[in-house]
Amino acid sequence: MKLLKFTSLKLIIFSGVLFVSCNTEKDSLIETPDEIKNQVELAHPEENYDEIVDIVFNNQTLKAEKYGDEYIVEGDIVFTKEQLNNNLLNKGTGRTGGRWTKNIVYYNIKSDLPNKNRISNAIAHIEARTNLAFVKRESITPMSNAYITFRKGSGCSSFVGRTGGKQYITLANGCSTGSVIHEIGHAVGLWHEQSRVDRNEHITINNANIRDGKQHNFQTYAERGRDGKEYSSFDFSSIMLYSSYAFSKNGKPTITKKNGATYTANRSYLSAKDKISLKKMYPQIHDVVTFKADNNKFLSSNEGVPNTNGPKFDRTRVGTLEHFRIIKLHNNKVALKGFGGKYLSVRPGNKVLCIGNNIDAWEVFTLEFIGSNKVAIRGHNGKYLSSNGGSSVITCDRTNIGYWEKFSISYKGRNAVNFTK
Ligand SMILES: [Zn+2]
Repeated sequence: MKLLKFTSLKLIIFSGVLFVSCNTEKDSLIETPDEIKNQVELAHPEENYDEIVDIVFNNQTLKAEKYGDEYIVEGDIVFTKEQLNNNLLNKGTGRTGGRWTKNIVYYNIKSDLPNKNRISNAIAHIEARTNLAFVKRESITPMSNAYITFRKGSGCSSFVGRTGGKQYITLANGCSTGSVIHEIGHAVGLWHEQSRVDRNEHITINNANIRDGKQHNFQTYAERGRDGKEYSSFDFSSIMLYSSYAFSKNGKPTITKKNGATYTANRSYLSAKDKISLKKMYPQIHDVVTFKADNNKFLSSNEGVPNTNGPKFDRTRVGTLEHFRIIKLHNNKVALKGFGGKYLSVRPGNKVLCIGNNIDAWEVFTLEFIGSNKVAIRGHNGKYLSSNGGSSVITCDRTNIGYWEKFSISYKGRNAVNFTK
C-alpha cells in the first residue's frame, strides 16, 4: 500500500513553478482500461513513486509524490529538485504569472522523440486560434534563455506557465496531438479546468470514488496555494478538463455535473472558451502590416492561390493576401505570417514563398531600417529580399541594398518604419 510509505519530509519552497503532468489519452501508456478512457494525463502513469512527501508552498502543506528528483503534486503537478535548488523559477507563476513575453514561446525538440508531427500539428492548431507564436529556439541567436524542450518519457507532463529557463514537456509515445495541445496549454499557463475556484458551482467531486492517495488531484489551484484566475466561464468542452472517471477506484465517476450526469472530456482541440482564456491571457500584440516596394505595388503572399508561384510585389490594392502579421521576435528579428497561416520562408534557390508551417531559421528575417522611412529585409542566409521589379516571385539573394531591395511598411495605413523597435 503506497500510502504506508508516507513520510513528512518538508521542503521549503520560496518560489516555484508547478509542473503538471498528465495521464494521457485513449492510446496512452496508462495501465488500466478505466484510466485509458479517463483523459487524465500523468507524468508517471506507472505510479512507482519513491514515497509520498509533504512539501510546503506558500505556507501551505501539499502532498507530493517523489520520483527521484521530481516532486509531483496533485498527481500531475511537479517540482523538480533541480529547480528548487537553483532558483530558476519566477514568483507567482501559474495562471496569472509565468507568461511568455511578447506572446512568443521558444522551444526545441529532442532528436530521439518519436512522432514529432504531433508537436508541429499541436503548435499549428494553437497558433491558428490564439495570439501565441512558437519559435524554434535555435533559429535566433542569441538563443532565448526561456524555452520548452519536448522530450520522450513515460507519461505526458508540463510545467504550468513559463519558468524563465529550460522547461520540459515530456511525451510518451501514447501522447496524442490533443495531449500535446493540453500540455502546451499548461506551459502557457492554463490550469486544469476542474482546478477552478468556482468549480463546485458546476461539478461535483465524488471523493468516495477517488483512488486512495489521489484526492489531491481534485483540489482547486487556490487550495494548492497557487495563483490563478477564471478567464471564461466553466467549460465542459475544455481540453484542460479531466474526465468523469479520472482516478476512479471503482469504475464510478469522480467528477459529475451537478445533476449527477457524466460527460465526455475533449482531448482534440481548444474549445471556444479555451481560446477566449488564452486570448485574454495573451492579447493581440503582433501587428498587421503591408509592404510596398518602390514600384508602388504591394506585396501579396499569394498564399493558397494556385498558379502564382509565390509572393510578388504586384498588387495595386490591399486585400487579405496583402496583409501580414509581423511576429516580433527577440534581437530585432521578425517572422511574417500570411493570413492563410503560413510564414514567409526562404527556400532552396533563395525563393521566398509563403509556405512555412512553423518559425524555424528560414522563417526569421531581420528588418534593417534605412533612410527615407524604408526598410531592407535580410534573411537567415544573410542576403536581402528583393522585389525583383514586381513581375516575378520575391527572392532573398541580394548582397547589396538597391532600388528593388527597399520597402516601406505600413501599419494601420500609416508609415511605421520604426514600430518594431
Ligand atoms: Zn494536465
